[in-house]
Amino acid sequence: MYNVDEALARILTAFERLPAQKMALDEALGRVLAEDIVSDVDLPPFANSSMDGFAVRAADVQTPGVQLAVIGDIPAGAFPSGQVGAGQAMRIMTGAPMPEGADSVVPVENTDGERMSPTLPKTVRITESGKVGDNVRPTGEDIQRGQTVLHAGRVLRAADLGVLAGLGVGWVSVIRRPIVAILSTGDELLNVDEPLVPGKIRDMNGYTIPALVRQIGAQVIRLGIARDTEQDVRAHLEKAISAKADLILSSAGVSVGAFDVVKSVIESMGEIGFWKVNLRPGKPLAFGQVQGIPFLGLPGNPVSAMVTFDVFARPAILKMMGRDPNVQTAEAITVESMRSDGRRTYMRVMVERRDGQIYARTTRNQSSGVLTSLVNADGLLIVPDGVTDVPAGTRLPIRLFDV
Ligand code: AMP
Ligand code: MG
Repeated sequence: MYNVDEALARILTAFERLPAQKMALDEALGRVLAEDIVSDVDLPPFANSSMDGFAVRAADVQTPGVQLAVIGDIPAGAFPSGQVGAGQAMRIMTGAPMPEGADSVVPVENTDGERMSPTLPKTVRITESGKVGDNVRPTGEDIQRGQTVLHAGRVLRAADLGVLAGLGVGWVSVIRRPIVAILSTGDELLNVDEPLVPGKIRDMNGYTIPALVRQIGAQVIRLGIARDTEQDVRAHLEKAISAKADLILSSAGVSVGAFDVVKSVIESMGEIGFWKVNLRPGKPLAFGQVQGIPFLGLPGNPVSAMVTFDVFARPAILKMMGRDPNVQTAEAITVESMRSDGRRTYMRVMVERRDGQIYARTTRNQSSGVLTSLVNADGLLIVPDGVTDVPAGTRLPIRLFDV
């Protein structure tokens, strides 16, 4: 019998970070950056105005009422020629480059000028004083040449794509997305669109597990439902092999039931070990490989399948993606007493946040077959190995679903 940490450590040794591929920036949202991004430019590349107004020498605008000669006009996108001398100004638009000689911009609101007048005024009267640097965005204010802007391992977000665009990085090196093949097994399973008949249930794991895989940004190949026959399980696994999956996940058929055929099929195609892991829900877990593809056999009960995915499969997929496989937990305070059997227990809990604390109570039915216990849950409260009694007011780690 392994504890959770031992089992996970063994599983993780079978996974490596996947290779990088070039991706068009437009397609890179949510992908994991494979390289550091070092800027080869300053951003902005030139000092520019942050307001529509007049570029001046600050020394000339110390006293309200001063009148300056307007010697030029700098729309955005133009580059100014000439230089602003003493007693002079140039009209400037937001984002336009600062002309030489000027060190301050007086917003149009602080002048007698008009923002959009088609003819350039000959003079402008300044109504508010200004100082050096007012309304000027210096070169490199955002990013400096040589600066590492994004680090390898970063999951790219919207703002990151904008920065990469600003730096002229139209193709970005990201980790290839893992391909995860997902199989449900069991003679009792029906497809979602089949009518219920006695003795049968609809396949739920065939929807929960793909959703969990997609949520972390990996690719799913749905293998569908394999019947409890060696031939059918084998045929489904062949599909995973030809799709060049990076991981095969199955659910059910790994306990000691008489019809559990997954074991013998995988033994013939690769190797498999059956592990008793000291956790609840989800004790039986199979791990091995099918023609070199790592294989993880999750329990069949829908809650157990989802929890063991979270505990074992998710870190493996994250590792392939070049991401931190460690689970991020917060701390919650129990508002009721709870009992465990000494196995590490993942309680489905609802949380309430008050005064900066997270308070947790269990969802109604903690049975591993009751999937609504997860529908109603905000997270998994982790009762450590060896603990049987959890009084109200105990602080425990919680894995929140929204992070
Ligand atoms: P097993 O591991 O095959 O003994 O299955 C354990 C329990 O999970 C049984 O009650 C199965 O009917 C149920 N089960 C197995 N696979 C699924 C599935 N894909 N969707 C919903 N329930 C399932
Ligand atoms: Mg079964």
